[in-house]
Amino acid sequence: MSLRVEHDIFMVRQRGREVAAAVGLEYQDQIRMVTALSEVARQLLGRGAGADVTFRAGQDPHGLGQVLRIDLTAPGALSWDERGRGYAAAVERLVDRLETVREDQASAVRMSRRIPPTAPALTPGRLAELRSRLVEELPGTPLEELALQNEQLVAALDEVRRQRDELTVLNRELRETNHGVMALYTQLSEELEATNQGVVALYAELDEKSAQLRAASEAKSRFLANVSHELRAPVTAIMGLGRLLADSSSDPLTSEQGRQVELVRGSAADLLALVNELLDLAKAESGRLEANWAEVDLRVVFGQLRGTLRVLATRPEVELVVEEPPQPAVIRSDEVLLAQVLRNLLHNGLKFTERGEVRMRAERLADRWRLSVADTGPGIPSELHGRIFEEFYQVPGRSTAGTGLGLPYAKRLVTLLGGTLELTSGPGRGSTFVVTLPVSAPPPAPPVPPSPAPPSSVAPSPAPPSSGPEG
Ligand code: ADP
Repeated sequence: MSLRVEHDIFMVRQRGREVAAAVGLEYQDQIRMVTALSEVARQLLGRGAGADVTFRAGQDPHGLGQVLRIDLTAPGALSWDERGRGYAAAVERLVDRLETVREDQASAVRMSRRIPPTAPALTPGRLAELRSRLVEELPGTPLEELALQNEQLVAALDEVRRQRDELTVLNRELRETNHGVMALYTQLSEELEATNQGVVALYAELDEKSAQLRAASEAKSRFLANVSHELRAPVTAIMGLGRLLADSSSDPLTSEQGRQVELVRGSAADLLALVNELLDLAKAESGRLEANWAEVDLRVVFGQLRGTLRVLATRPEVELVVEEPPQPAVIRSDEVLLAQVLRNLLHNGLKFTERGEVRMRAERLADRWRLSVADTGPGIPSELHGRIFEEFYQVPGRSTAGTGLGLPYAKRLVTLLGGTLELTSGPGRGSTFVVTLPVSAPPPAPPVPPSPAPPSSVAPSPAPPSSGPEG
């Protein structure tokens, strides 16, 4: 088709729509395509030289599939001014592809729109048929085309309104959802705050309970220390008086009286031992016990224990073995307290073992010493491993003298020395108590925890050794 006068724009537009409908473009796409066509046609006509319009349908070389392509060819070069570029951008949105190409003496604007795959295939036969049908159709008047264009405009406006209404509904829904989310968020925040307050209250209660426990534990330690201290003098006096009564220079006693005085003396000795142990434990618990840090030679400690405990190993079926510690056997610790712990463990071993051996050995780990006392005695059921470290606890059914204070005391001392006391044992398997101690220095200021809660607020921590890291 030729585009020479303004009237032609109507003709081109009308034909364009007929072609677009014939090749199977959807209604909205038909309008988009012919709107783009009449816009470009108006632009080209405005340049004064007119243009030729060609409709092509077929496969797109750029991969769009089957397309309807409309070419508008005008003589000379096409250079869009600013307004023209604006139009081109608007037109580009109406089609799938828009390009301007330079031919020999002319320029061409090519617009392509995809034909939906559901449309019938454009075989040569079908194209020929479409062509002849379009030729037969009589062109309408510009007025008819104008009326049609108006109709399309009204439809487009309706579509815009419909979309705006949809958008309003969507916006309202979004606002409502937002409200819901906000309400949920507020509710969650409130619940969280309430939970937080509960937790804070619980913590306060816990702190209060800890303070009460600490106070109770301190009171117990004070009571034990005072009572045992006060008991020591009268018990010592009873023992002295007993000795006097039994003395050969005193008035002679009947044999029955002599036996009874011996019983009194024995009981008084037991009582004194108990009182002394209680005093030791109370001292350790109150934190008043301080380690006297020095270089300790384990061989010396082991040698002394070997000597002093031999007298306790009275059963011929039980052998006491104290192995020689590997060299160099030095440790930074408190010799007296360490010896007390080991003596206690050896003493227990000898007390409870009826045949076999009680063996003490030292083993050097990287930065620790592992001192173990193992026996072939009756063993301790695993469920009692915690309990035997409690004050006064004794495994039921073991009829040996004792107070049940030795292990709790030993544990406190080991803690004071910066180490741990552990037990491996089971019924019939014997018992192995293991003391693990740091080689060079205790950990920074180890507190001495009494059973329920550490008396951190009252018990001064033991002074760190002068050569150790700051504690
Ligand atoms: P005591 O020896 O004065 O009874 P301890 O605190 O030293 O108190 O020990 C608590 C209890 O642990 C003992 O009464 C005993 O039942 C058990 N026990 C301790 N050492 C051993 C051991 N080597 N073998 C078996 N039982 C042991």
